[in-house]
Amino acid sequence: MSLSSLADYHIHTPLCRHAKGRPTEYARIAKDLGLAEIGFSDHSPAAEDGFDDWRMRRAEMPIYLAEVEAAREAVPELPIRLGLEVDYLEGSSHEQWMDELATLAPFDYLIGSVHYIAPGWDIDNPMWIGRWSGEAEVEEIWDAYWGLYARCAASGRFDILAHPDLPKKFGHRPVGDLRRFYEPAIAAARETGAAIEINTAGWRKECAEQYPTREFLGLMLEAEIPLTINSDAHQPSEVGAEFERARALALEVGFTHTARFSGRERTLVPLEA
Ligand SMILES: [Zn+2]
Ligand SMILES: [Zn+2]
Repeated sequence: MSLSSLADYHIHTPLCRHAKGRPTEYARIAKDLGLAEIGFSDHSPAAEDGFDDWRMRRAEMPIYLAEVEAAREAVPELPIRLGLEVDYLEGSSHEQWMDELATLAPFDYLIGSVHYIAPGWDIDNPMWIGRWSGEAEVEEIWDAYWGLYARCAASGRFDILAHPDLPKKFGHRPVGDLRRFYEPAIAAARETGAAIEINTAGWRKECAEQYPTREFLGLMLEAEIPLTINSDAHQPSEVGAEFERARALALEVGFTHTARFSGRERTLVPLEA
């Protein structure tokens, strides 16, 4: 089966300091794979450049836009959307900055992510692996994360919500029924109409499972949350990675369509061409 019915909207660029390959290279690979379209969604600048070391600087936004434009010129047959992966952070200065970010360019979509559960604590960073020390700590981290994720969804700022169950990245899962974490996030996404992605990067991490788990996908389907399938590529060879597998999973769960975005308007297209 071809990938001609699929788009990959979660793609990074070297401006975030931990990805390789220019947008033009990603676009060439996407075209060769036969993807319908792609979009770039690099880690957005923070209000203060010193916030962390894994995102573009404020002054680099024009370079980002020019790089995406260069990819459009190099591969004109491929529709290339403009997005941004924005960290959902709470507090009035962060909220103001998220508002401002949305106005900095003609974005086709914004992806909302939760990485930080406390100042300076990005839970997917291996630097903090020692903090996952026991059952109580895992429960606490999951709890903090999912509270933020639900509020990220409820904020209505984002068209797509990224990698839902990121805290399983290193294999840490609380005991018991995990729907207690998932359900408030699903309800909030339903309320605001945000789509949620299957992020195939999970298959490349220690957890060796797509984000989110199949159970979460089932809840999404029941709540009629629109789906996207994304690679979270940080190098050109990861564009469209495991898309056949992700589509098979989505079909098995019962999804029939995925969402496309243009000018922050959503349309739905069949999963199978
Ligand atoms: Zn990244
Ligand atoms: Zn990402």
